[in-house]
Amino acid sequence: MQRFACAVCDAPLFFENSQCLACGTQLGFHRGERAIAPLDDDGAYRDLEGQLLRRCTNLKLSGCTWLVREEGDKCFSCSLTRSRPEDHDTTGLAQFLDAERSKRHLIYELDVLGLPIEDRIQNPERGLAFDLLSSVEEKVVIGHQNGLITIDLAETVDSHREKMRAKLEEPYRTMLGHFRHETGHYFEGTLVFSDPALTEDARSIFGDDRASYKDAIKRHYDEGAPEDWKKEHISQYATMHPYEDFAETFAHYLHICDTVDTALQYGLASGPGPNTSEDFGDVVRETWIPLSVALNQVNRSMGANDLYPFVLPPAVIAKLDFVHKLRVRVGHPVAGSVAG
Ligand SMILES: [Zn+2]
Ligand SMILES: [Zn+2]
Ligand SMILES: [Zn+2]
Repeated sequence: MQRFACAVCDAPLFFENSQCLACGTQLGFHRGERAIAPLDDDGAYRDLEGQLLRRCTNLKLSGCTWLVREEGDKCFSCSLTRSRPEDHDTTGLAQFLDAERSKRHLIYELDVLGLPIEDRIQNPERGLAFDLLSSVEEKVVIGHQNGLITIDLAETVDSHREKMRAKLEEPYRTMLGHFRHETGHYFEGTLVFSDPALTEDARSIFGDDRASYKDAIKRHYDEGAPEDWKKEHISQYATMHPYEDFAETFAHYLHICDTVDTALQYGLASGPGPNTSEDFGDVVRETWIPLSVALNQVNRSMGANDLYPFVLPPAVIAKLDFVHKLRVRVGHPVAGSVAG
């Protein structure tokens, strides 16, 4: 995440700030300019193109500070949400606010990485959309189907999420992690499976996705992951099916890119970053591993669990590099590479 500063008083700002705590200026996030903009007394900001913008209508409902053209409009991030808790469901709405915060973080990062998103208006059949549902009154299964991502809002509650994490023997479980994993399924559909040659490459790296998913689930929950899963997979869940291996890899690609970017911005790391290296293996070996080892030690110094409780064997680094190269294919300039 980039480092923001108040355009009025230069005080540090954070991505979610709606007001500068130092000078009191009201703020809004400009997606195109990737900046936190100061608002005037009428709550408006005139952008670099001369367009007058106001904050998203969901400011109160979801804490969204993103700027929109017309008063009463929803921003791009909020408009991707197809279903949310009803207005009378105060518990669900509090969880919705937390989940939307993670979702904005996700959309921001996808923009930074140059990964293209189509919404349901641009692509009614496979565009990205979210159902953010509370499992208090109905069963909610987190998942992805043809661009539609379902999230269980109960996962915003620490006690519930920790219970699930322990039950599933996962070393890491967060709402942002869920969003990153599920959008991995979306991008495998739009970027990989739309291209036969790339689909073949993916099959040689992640395995044949035509294997029965139903059988894979049954096998995974009956028998668990194979004993030597750490040799080629980032997590036990990744061993279930090639789809899940790609989604887990994609989530880790986003974890690493975002954390490396943040550390570089704050002067906590040195070495190649996700936008300055053509080979993601270099980013992992030269920047990420030294940084994550140090961050794990920092967490231990605070009596907390490791920040990044994972090991990256060469086979997993090759999978991460496959995801990295998808960005070049969609035209994002990664240093040293030719976009095309
Ligand atoms: Zn300020
Ligand atoms: Zn919004
Ligand atoms: Zn999945």
